[in-house]
Amino acid sequence: MHIILFGPPGVGKGTQAKILSERFHIPHISTGDMLREEIKHQTDLGIKAKVLMDAGNLVADDIMIGMIRSVLQSHECVNGIILDGFPRTVEQATALETMMQELHISLKRVLYIEVTEEHIMERLVKRLSVEHRADDTAETITKRITIYKQSTAPVKTYFESRGLLSSVNGEGSVEVVAQRMLEALK
Ligand code: ADP
Repeated sequence: MHIILFGPPGVGKGTQAKILSERFHIPHISTGDMLREEIKHQTDLGIKAKVLMDAGNLVADDIMIGMIRSVLQSHECVNGIILDGFPRTVEQATALETMMQELHISLKRVLYIEVTEEHIMERLVKRLSVEHRADDTAETITKRITIYKQSTAPVKTYFESRGLLSSVNGEGSVEVVAQRMLEALK
């Protein structure tokens, strides 16, 4: 079962992805986490990605597409994945569609987590004080939301036009939101 979790930064994709991953016994693949691993190990990609991520910018499409290609082909992902953080541009979305066709994978659903903008700011500011992520500063939060609106929001329309998108209200407790996600997958 291949599922995409989609929505603006700070809506709780990571938290919900973990719950779905445990429920369906399929791996949670977060491109943000993968990039942070690269940074930790100071790989060439990590060094390049860090500059972009810290400034709130996106990493290049061809790099991200290559990363997801190997994930989809990996043994641990044969039964499905909960994809979190990809696709983030229409170019990534079309590349994913082609890759899935080539690999005979059918996408079950794109779950779009909906939260008001005030809530998003609140959550990101909170995360700033808890996780100390290098890209959670006041300026980069604003930058990431702007980039989301420009480059990532069109991905929602893309999946909507394919009849694959389900909107899930992301406000409420973690459990309540998780329940809504499960309902949307029925
Ligand atoms: P958030 O949960 O706040 O959206 P992520 O952990 O998903 O943050 O991503 C952190 C950063 O990693 C992004 O701001 C971006 O720079 C980079 N990144 C992650 N996924 C992608 C992607 N699919 N395309 C381009 N950049 C990405």
